[in-house]
Amino acid sequence: SATLTIRVLNHCGTCYYCRHGRENLCKNSYKKSAAAAGQLLPNGLSEYLCVDANQVYKLSNDLPYEQAVFVEPFACVLNSIDRGQIHLGDDVVVIGGGVMGILHVIAAKLSGARVILSEPYKPRAEMAKKYGCDIVIDPTIVDPVEEVKRITDGEGANVVFNTTPIVKVAEQAVQMTAQMGRCVMYSSMHPDVPIQVSPNYIHNTEIVITGSKSPSIEAFDTSARILSKKIVDLTPLLTESYSMEEADTAFERAMSVETYRVMIKW
Ligand SMILES: [Zn+2]
Repeated sequence: SATLTIRVLNHCGTCYYCRHGRENLCKNSYKKSAAAAGQLLPNGLSEYLCVDANQVYKLSNDLPYEQAVFVEPFACVLNSIDRGQIHLGDDVVVIGGGVMGILHVIAAKLSGARVILSEPYKPRAEMAKKYGCDIVIDPTIVDPVEEVKRITDGEGANVVFNTTPIVKVAEQAVQMTAQMGRCVMYSSMHPDVPIQVSPNYIHNTEIVITGSKSPSIEAFDTSARILSKKIVDLTPLLTESYSMEEADTAFERAMSVETYRVMIKW
């Protein structure tokens, strides 16, 4: 009867990345699960799932499933926050106010930053403010790079997280990163078109451009602990839930700008 969650992304434990604490970059992830479970991918939305015991994380028994479903996405974001290396008092920009953007806002606030969200859709801007976002800018009204520089006395943001799959925005993310800052490409890009980056800007400013892929074991465990201890309440981000029979509707609703996360229950 325990409330559990699983880190579906497995890892081999023996490759260079696993042995250097970066299991999220394991070259052999998925392969072991395929052999163990007779399936190609970890999968989900199934009544039974075969996983290694070390992929299972126990949650607080009074944590509702509506919160427990956020362990994995929040863990992905905590890995990104780890890549961003936020310091107390930093200016952090989060680009995009979808569920991943809002989770970045929450985690950046927990890390002691002043958080600026770039998001044009008003309900998402309001949700970010409910979670303590300090400033929201509308990139359809102002130039986001100029606006971030204006807010930060011309410096730019110490850490920038791009949670959108938009190439032009990725370019802006680099441009609004302050000297010595870190720019994290959280989202994958669709389409993955190369962006223009000035090598001299990197040379002169020592900015670090990095990415974030999947959750590390540490990020997953931290996420499970934060939610189990109810340090944050993510209930408002679980917009709708559906039965298995209504799965088609659930997927359609999950694509809508009106929803954050949609849950299927059975
Ligand atoms: Zn590995």
